[in-house]
Amino acid sequence: AARREDRTTMAPSTGKPAVTPDSVINLDHGDPTMFEAFWRETGDAAELVIPGWQTMSYFSDVTNICWFLEPELDQQVRRLHRTVGNAAVDGYHVLVGTGSTQLFMAALYALSPAAASAEPISVVSTAPYYSSYPAVTDFLRSGLFRWAGDASSFEGDDYIELVCSPNNPDGTIREAVLASKPGGKTVHDLAYYWPQYTAITKKADHDIMLFTVSKSTGHAGTRIGWALVKDRAIAEKMTKFVELNTIGVSKDSQLRAAKVLAAVSDGYEPSEADARVGARAPRLFDFGRRKMVERWSMLRAAAAASGIFTLPEETSGFCNFTNETAATNPAFAWLRCDREDVDDCASFLRGHKILTRSGAQFGADPRYVRVSMLDRDDAFDIFVRRLSSFKSGEGEAD
Ligand code: PMP
Repeated sequence: AARREDRTTMAPSTGKPAVTPDSVINLDHGDPTMFEAFWRETGDAAELVIPGWQTMSYFSDVTNICWFLEPELDQQVRRLHRTVGNAAVDGYHVLVGTGSTQLFMAALYALSPAAASAEPISVVSTAPYYSSYPAVTDFLRSGLFRWAGDASSFEGDDYIELVCSPNNPDGTIREAVLASKPGGKTVHDLAYYWPQYTAITKKADHDIMLFTVSKSTGHAGTRIGWALVKDRAIAEKMTKFVELNTIGVSKDSQLRAAKVLAAVSDGYEPSEADARVGARAPRLFDFGRRKMVERWSMLRAAAAASGIFTLPEETSGFCNFTNETAATNPAFAWLRCDREDVDDCASFLRGHKILTRSGAQFGADPRYVRVSMLDRDDAFDIFVRRLSSFKSGEGEAD
């Protein structure tokens, strides 16, 4: 047993350090470590051993447009979407990326005008928008595309509109705001369209849809995202981007992601072998929903107790996956500080050793901050306790 342990664990890093009641609590990034507690309890359901001679070739399936996509990942992606009913997969190409971040860039590349003489195409999204959209769009100062800000004030014919739903940072359910024009393209970032965060109200069937294990299962460190793409020529161009950028995507990571997605599907449609022995695989979305409901209720109570913080109203919908009405439980809290003397909520909270991301980074008012709801229990508990202590003035001293 000891030898097997050595073989499979390789002393991995644990990410962020453990916290104590007076630590700095970092909820700036959406690091999904909340899900570790679930996967710790799943035994070998998501365990994988890769012999030294495997996954050595650059190629996975030379007959597929996305020639570096592992067939097993392709199958498990389709199976999970069919199980959950959150996105159409029939007639779609599945593409894999190093996180959905790489596929976001691939989509910009694929949707940009082909003519060398063309002006860069405008990339827009309704504010508040995910802070990486402007950052990733402009960091290489591409001649193909350029960040043009808030979609709701955009005027022009040619654009790429990014639609994130449920939205990072504020959790709203969104649709494209720009009326479709011949020169207009949309990319749907559905990273949070999973039952732990929101009701699954329809089977999404947009032209380009992005997903990631980072938010669906919590395996951000595996760096696997996928795109569902309708159009063959766009799928080819996106594949070309990944080829030029990284010559493909880690096969080890793809196999691990496939194993993890299979374990999630098994929880809801047991394999024949499991069914025969009456075994039931652990159910990720039940765990995720339970945790999110609990955390949102703690956070709402703390914000109310503080008297100075407000949160978006709770919304709900009928979930076709669970067959129940479910509230949205966003992966981030979009928190507003209503104290008159505070015009920069992020620096106010930083003074109380809580790190968050300023509304300004999302094209919004700096009285707002985005707070990750997906950290480990210890950090989340300390955060909520600190927040509720503001009223009594205990939080004021440091
Ligand atoms: N889209 C959204 C809306 C996100 O919030 C994130 C992660 N914070 C990503 C994409 C990127 O995910 P990945 O880890 O797959 O690159």
